[in-house]
Amino acid sequence: MNTASRPGSPTGLRDANRRRVLDVVRAEGSPTQAEIAESTGLAPATVSNIVRDLGAAGVLVAGDEVRAGRRVRAVRLVRGAGVVAGIDFGHRHVRVALADVADPAATAGHTSPPERTEARADLPDGHGVVDGLATAARLLDGVLDRAGIARAALRGAVVGLPAPLDHATGAVGASGVLPGWVGVPVAGRVSEHLGVPTWVDNDATLGTLAEQRWGALRGVDDGLFLKLSDGVGAGMVLAGRLYRGPDGTAGEIGHVAVEPGDRFAAVCRCGHRGCLETVVSTRTVTAMLEPLLGAPLTVADVVARAHEGHAPARRVLADTGHHVGAALAGLCTVLTPRRIVVGGELAQAGDLLLAPLHAALEATALPGTTRTAEVVTAEMAERAPVLGALALALDHCSVRL
Ligand SMILES: [Zn+2]
Repeated sequence: MNTASRPGSPTGLRDANRRRVLDVVRAEGSPTQAEIAESTGLAPATVSNIVRDLGAAGVLVAGDEVRAGRRVRAVRLVRGAGVVAGIDFGHRHVRVALADVADPAATAGHTSPPERTEARADLPDGHGVVDGLATAARLLDGVLDRAGIARAALRGAVVGLPAPLDHATGAVGASGVLPGWVGVPVAGRVSEHLGVPTWVDNDATLGTLAEQRWGALRGVDDGLFLKLSDGVGAGMVLAGRLYRGPDGTAGEIGHVAVEPGDRFAAVCRCGHRGCLETVVSTRTVTAMLEPLLGAPLTVADVVARAHEGHAPARRVLADTGHHVGAALAGLCTVLTPRRIVVGGELAQAGDLLLAPLHAALEATALPGTTRTAEVVTAEMAERAPVLGALALALDHCSVRL
């Protein structure tokens, strides 16, 4: 279980209709079934069936009320209908967040992310699936505890992973990118462990979804989201839709060769040489400066020193931006995105990284194709993937029951 149902399929249509009904209930509080039919344009019988199904699933409750002297059937969201979890794995961290199924953030057009409880833990680089899942489960129990919510109230979870995923099996595809997880049907394993339906998606795709729904890609029909962290990934919104590619593996810009043909370029974890990820990542930035500034360094340290005018720190961040811009230029020439949203840990560098990125794009992309492309930082910073996981979990668990 890791793909959205196809929009044109019977399930897709059912989900879309359920979402429209839920959106009206979330927006209006306690509309009547007749009002829902009017707002959604759905037939009264369809509304009635949806209210019955979502009622049986414990999401909606319908009751008779008297309004203006007339007896009406009013529909409300069930408070405490349950919670969903977003779980975002990085190469060296895991973040868990919980949100209520009835949170208004799930409504189409809502502009801010859901109220949530969050926790984060470090993971050793190269961690395996057993350790990763155990840490995530411990964090999840902690956030449930803090929020005073029983495990039984959990309705579903979405897991983000920094690797290409095979959409058919939900397993990590490319060997080497996340070695401890290769071939593991992650959604099934997490679902077994938590006892709730679970879906899995690429972390940059989830980041794109969060920025599209509540952040810097809101209202942008053609845009890119870049995740610059330990790994480098991208997500694309094309003609208003999140683009995953036929296999769900689109957007792996971290493995675009920026030093093609150089037999001495660094070897990437994917097995090729000279990938963007070998020259641009959190660890490359810190490793280049640790001999000068002392170890261990964080990205925040590097950014602070750069703001103080430390020339090597400024140089490393500028070169990082330049490499990303050069790698993006071809994509921009072909796709002509209107906005490029930079997220992940390295986005903390702001203009120190964004300005050279933009300059490299301008210098390399076909003149004119980037004229209207803005380069901005992600509104949700490094939280974008976990918020995207919550967005998808809210979609799945309030609509697809
Ligand atoms: Zn690579």
